[in-house]
Amino acid sequence: MRTLVMKFGGTSVGMTTGLTQLLSIVMYEYERWDRLILVVSALEGVTDALLEAARLAQLANRRGYRRIVATLRTRHLALIEHLPLGVNERIALQADIDRLLFDMLDTCQALSDRPEKTSRQEAVDAIIGVGERLSARIVAALLRQNDLRSVAIDGTEILITDSIHGNATPNFALTRERINTLLSPMLERRIVPVVTGFIASTTAGKQTTLGRGGSDLTASVMAVCTDASEVWIWTDVDGLMSADPRDTDQARVVTQLSYSEAAELAYFGARLLHTRMIAPLQERRIPLRVRNIFKPQSIGTLVSDFVESVPALKAVTLINGLGMACAQTGGIGRLIATVDDAMFEVGGAHTDVIFSSQSSWQSFLAFVVPTSAGLDGLHSLELALDARAAQDEFLAKWAARPVTILTIVGTRVNELHTLIAEIIASLAGIRLLALSQSPSNCSFSLVIDTGDAEDALERVHQVIVVPQGGRSTR
Ligand code: ASP
Ligand code: MG
Repeated sequence: MRTLVMKFGGTSVGMTTGLTQLLSIVMYEYERWDRLILVVSALEGVTDALLEAARLAQLANRRGYRRIVATLRTRHLALIEHLPLGVNERIALQADIDRLLFDMLDTCQALSDRPEKTSRQEAVDAIIGVGERLSARIVAALLRQNDLRSVAIDGTEILITDSIHGNATPNFALTRERINTLLSPMLERRIVPVVTGFIASTTAGKQTTLGRGGSDLTASVMAVCTDASEVWIWTDVDGLMSADPRDTDQARVVTQLSYSEAAELAYFGARLLHTRMIAPLQERRIPLRVRNIFKPQSIGTLVSDFVESVPALKAVTLINGLGMACAQTGGIGRLIATVDDAMFEVGGAHTDVIFSSQSSWQSFLAFVVPTSAGLDGLHSLELALDARAAQDEFLAKWAARPVTILTIVGTRVNELHTLIAEIIASLAGIRLLALSQSPSNCSFSLVIDTGDAEDALERVHQVIVVPQGGRSTR
């Protein structure tokens, strides 16, 4: 029994051109696989708008969130207006869109009327998850219109998680049970389920979400729990790239990666994949392909358990953050705890410490300031840290600066002495604030001032990517 899970991102479902591609891909693959499961994201930009609506609801700004809901309604209705749908499908979809947005407006209303802490996070998750419910219904209707049997399935019905709202972790055993009862009978009848990405629920039925970009994780969970043969992520770029094409026009597709390399790439800032989606696939050895929906004939990137015969460097990423140096040692745990505490106060999220190092009299951390900290997040964080430093001698001497963590991803990095030396030499004139080789042996990171990042990326990329494919040397 061969099962394929295909996830379509926001750019694939956000426009008629993407949906037309989706349709022809699904029709083609339907003939080639025993079972097909689709996972969809919200239309591009919709989750951002919903997050803003949830924020405004918490500020009791009724006009603000109502305006957002009205815009979302117009956008979804305009999209289905342009799709080749029959009258019945169209009318049913319009009713679905209105009902879902109306319910969501109700949740916003409740949030702005009585924003008690306990129900708040749950309400936010219910608000921000509506984008996927809308897109799944649109996709399922489009497939039905083209004679494929298809049903939209809410992730809240089948994906069970813990109760960490906004960043929940799936429970595979319970999810598998739900899938066996709800999804398997459909799959046996050759129905194509269109599962909403990103959203899930606790055992008590409270709605959760899986973190930004969480539809990828939904796809992984679906694949593991249905013993799928492959997972394909359809997006609007050619695959995983040697660098972010926005940072360098020399970026090229990396055709093969091991699970560990892909996981490092996701963790260190390549925005294409959810950081937690790789591990479950790696454990079950389920291959993952990343493909361009607008170029289905090109192969994209294959992530599998293949092992590179020679050490090689494949990609370079940048991740912006804050570097914090403290004139103390021996207490990096304490420093992390203080930063985490301040970050939680400012952004309601925990700190992602990406880098730490220490010497006899200095500790250094580099971490990402989550978007939930807002536009002036950096400044607010500094104030929160100042307040803590004033009460704690240990923190008395600290300094923070914007930094960028540049990471080079590859295989058996610890054997690539010459290449690493070349990379460091290529950065002549750029101040290196810290260095580290990751314990996975799949990455090597440098911390630099953010002002130097673009230049540094260009130079490193030149060293690791030679005209034909990746470069390898000892
Ligand atoms: N729509 C959600 C987001 O924008 C989930 C996803 O796209 O994967 O984060
Ligand atoms: Mg994504």
